[in-house]
Amino acid sequence: TKFSELGLAAPIQAALDAEGYHTPTPIQAQAIPPLLEGRDLLGIAQTGTGKTAAFSLPALHHLAGAPKHRQAHGCRMLVLAPTRELASQIAESMRAYGANLKLSVATIFGGVPINRQIRQLQHGVDILVATPGRLLDLVDQRALTLRHVEIFVLDEADQMLDLGFIHALRRIVPLLPRQRQSLFFSATMPKTIGELADKFLTDPVKVAV
Ligand code: AMP
Repeated sequence: TKFSELGLAAPIQAALDAEGYHTPTPIQAQAIPPLLEGRDLLGIAQTGTGKTAAFSLPALHHLAGAPKHRQAHGCRMLVLAPTRELASQIAESMRAYGANLKLSVATIFGGVPINRQIRQLQHGVDILVATPGRLLDLVDQRALTLRHVEIFVLDEADQMLDLGFIHALRRIVPLLPRQRQSLFFSATMPKTIGELADKFLTDPVKVAV
């Protein structure tokens, strides 16, 4: 397959051309069609497999195809990542793939002053990439609401658990609307992760690469 056969919106296809991506990686080829149909996804994949584009491209397609006014303090897509480095990388990739779309991408992580992040969220954003702890701080300060999330991505779930984010995740998920698309990625699938995935996902497509 070629990207051009997947039916992504023309501005996204143009961004892929600009990046020099022609052929989807295996996870992209397997995940993008069901994600475009709105299915949930359980992905067993390591970094380096192209999983960021696998979840970003269909999400950008959806967000661009169903434009909505930004809700104050809200976001339409939430990506949770275990570390600031990964969150920054994901946001950078999403900005590149969405370069021809008018979507805003914000990044939220701890260890830096919170005030700039509060200001960033004031009028809402389209895409928020966040680490769990700082995200909850912002929710608790009423600077962020998760009520408008349409697409939820949990990346590197096994890392999240290793870093002690399980309690934060258990608090975050009930704040999301029930009606949403959920994606769950982990490099490994021990029992605790499998149970967590079961709670997040509805009839997911399973992809392992
Ligand atoms: P990831 O696993 O999402 O961290 O992606 C790994 C690397 O592969 C990143 O540097 C991407 O820019 C690159 N990449 C992702 N998908 C493709 C593709 N279909 N063709 C070429 N490079 C890609």
